[in-house]
Amino acid sequence: MASTAPPATPAPWCGRDSKPRTFEKHSPVICYDKPEASIVSKPEYDDKRFQALTGDLIQTLVVPKREARTWTMQAGDLCRITVNEGSQVGDMNFWNLENTAERFYSGKTRQLHSTHLRVYDRLWSCLPYLRPMATFVFDSLASYGIDEDGGALHDVIGTRCDDYTYKLITGKDRVGSCHSSLVKAVVEERGLTEQDVHDVWNIFMCTGFTRDTQQYFCKPSPARKGDFIDFVADMNLLVALSACPQGDVSIQVGAEVPDDKCHPLKVEVFRKK
Ligand SMILES: [Zn+2]
Repeated sequence: MASTAPPATPAPWCGRDSKPRTFEKHSPVICYDKPEASIVSKPEYDDKRFQALTGDLIQTLVVPKREARTWTMQAGDLCRITVNEGSQVGDMNFWNLENTAERFYSGKTRQLHSTHLRVYDRLWSCLPYLRPMATFVFDSLASYGIDEDGGALHDVIGTRCDDYTYKLITGKDRVGSCHSSLVKAVVEERGLTEQDVHDVWNIFMCTGFTRDTQQYFCKPSPARKGDFIDFVADMNLLVALSACPQGDVSIQVGAEVPDDKCHPLKVEVFRKK
């Protein structure tokens, strides 16, 4: 171990030696390297997808622009979310349909998989449950990959846009965010409360961290009309989706977003026969 002996009397204002401190170098070690339960059988989930898509379309709903809606799924159902009019990102929440205390845990999902979810990654529930709630099975934008700035799609790093942070940035009061839309939807449609809304899966959103300062960034979504994602429910679910009032996120948070930048999102649920 290389070290430099500290001076007999450290400088009082820095607490240690005033010389630049050096640290040992280590290679990164993946903390949660693919626990068995996080790895799905691709043929099994491809088959679940096929069975559902060739079964019955049991529900179609359109989440209007700048609003949120909820729906339910049975284990094994497939949900397709489509950018049906124009580029648009969405913020999703998930609860166990029979016990809404069990809900999506974006932080642990990020650690078990990565900052951005890819096909065959799973969405995990909070402690003490920690179970797969759903599995991502198709992405029409999968070829976007990780871009030159480290940006990628469908992150579990952002929280959700909210009016409290908007006020922190702008000083202005507002009601018009994914958080307020999700709260309105779960209160009015499901009798839940603001405290039930939690950190989200940010679908179709392109985000990352800057290489120099590791700050959260976003880019305009590359999703175009016709793009879609599919996921399969691994338990009976209550699901909520907000069509983000930031639209395709081509305008910085805090600035006014014109209405023509915002679009609806289409939700379809398929069930095997
Ligand atoms: Zn939003």
